[in-house]
Amino acid sequence: MLQRFAEESFLVESGVDRLITECGVSPDDLIDFAKSRDEWIISRSLVEEFLKVKHEQEKKDDPPQACIEKTEVKVERPIFRAIASEYPGRVDHLSQYDISGRSTSKGTVENFVSLFENRYKKIAALLHAQPAQLPIVDFAGARKGDKCRFIGMVRSKTVTKNGHLIIEIEDEKGVMKGFINNSKKELMSQAGYILLDEVLAFDGNYKDPFFFIDAVTWPSVPINKQKKLIDDNLSIAFTSDLHVGSRLFLERELKRMLEWLKGNCADEREREIASSIKYLFLAGDLVDGIGVYPNQEKELVIQDIYEQYQTLFNYLEQVPEYIEIIMIPGNHDAVRRADPQPRIPDEFIKNKRSNYHFGASPSWFRVEGLNCLLYHGNSLDSMIANVPGLSYYEPEKAGIEYLKRRHLSPIYGSNHIAPEEEDYMVIEEVPDIIHMGHVHKNGYTEYRNIPIVSSGTWQAQTDYQRMQGHIPTPALLPVYNMKTGALRVIDFNGV
Ligand code: ZN
Ligand code: FE
Repeated sequence: MLQRFAEESFLVESGVDRLITECGVSPDDLIDFAKSRDEWIISRSLVEEFLKVKHEQEKKDDPPQACIEKTEVKVERPIFRAIASEYPGRVDHLSQYDISGRSTSKGTVENFVSLFENRYKKIAALLHAQPAQLPIVDFAGARKGDKCRFIGMVRSKTVTKNGHLIIEIEDEKGVMKGFINNSKKELMSQAGYILLDEVLAFDGNYKDPFFFIDAVTWPSVPINKQKKLIDDNLSIAFTSDLHVGSRLFLERELKRMLEWLKGNCADEREREIASSIKYLFLAGDLVDGIGVYPNQEKELVIQDIYEQYQTLFNYLEQVPEYIEIIMIPGNHDAVRRADPQPRIPDEFIKNKRSNYHFGASPSWFRVEGLNCLLYHGNSLDSMIANVPGLSYYEPEKAGIEYLKRRHLSPIYGSNHIAPEEEDYMVIEEVPDIIHMGHVHKNGYTEYRNIPIVSSGTWQAQTDYQRMQGHIPTPALLPVYNMKTGALRVIDFNGV
């Protein structure tokens, strides 16, 4: 669309393209209209005028029937009957990937050993399943002169004074020093993405004491992954980071959204979208919590954690009961801070309803047959700090990096990890959708046909965010239609 405007030498006011898409305006009609008015900027006011003229034209084309009798006709908005209410909810919780009730961690050295062994085993198995040009050899079986593939965990990365790269790689049998010559420019830039503690396949030549690396392979997801769509016109709405209890919680906007879910919106197209919503995902930070950071009490309007959850559930009770609500915790919720975070305990849930579903962070829910991976995103900060090219402006791109590594928290030590016997952060299956929160910035991308949604927030900018230069995008609701694969973002900010 933007290209079409550029071809005709029009300038487009920022943000107007979204309005055009949302209102389903044909760019060509709009171009003709702008030309007829001698306009060369596609501005918001021009689009609004165009819509008005079009609306009047449509009314003229379809004149009302002549009234024979003059009776008072009370015009009532048709009763909202959601399409989604006609379908049963289809939610399966894949509890084998959920830490809730299974934590065995005592924080001992043995626990950590077991965690990393398990991570290695799970990701190495994914790499073993990939076609390899070279024989896969373990470190004990390596012979001088071997051209082979090693599968190992990255222990350290060091740049020599001549600019070569030495990567210490570990497997269950030992440690190997990998070497990348700085003349291999492409490989060197690829190696910039190698993170500590991730499990990779290295192809190269073993000449004791070094393994000369020629190629690096990430486990990733299949290149030919198909997008999973369903036959019914049903949607998932994604949200997170409500921060109920914070003085910056946007109550008015949230209430507007709750009304909208019930069909109370003027825009006919938006009513259709609301009508298709069968699932509502809440990816953590449901409440603001207590004592999450120093002096937090000054920022709270509800200082009692039970009351914060009570208020949250009072809101959720207003969500139509045919909508299945899936909830996971975040770093502000009343569970342990370390990943994986278990589900929100029952003691905080008042008036449990049959449409509530609770899972850990991360957790997997199969919805209408689609494998949905929900994770609050506690490791996003460390990913953004360590992976070249990532930023708080586009947190959804970190989702791609998780998928490539098949791990939701690859770098150990940057964010809290509980040393469980099993590594629940490994992305064991190929998901059909990923949903994250935490960064308070809305964003959407796809990787190999896997939609990745970063849902925003219902909290205004905090002082901390202002200091860090983070600009949140509050009160936006991304809605994904599982039949068409289209994502629409509904804006609940005031006019
Ligand atoms: Zn948050
Ligand atoms: Fe968070």
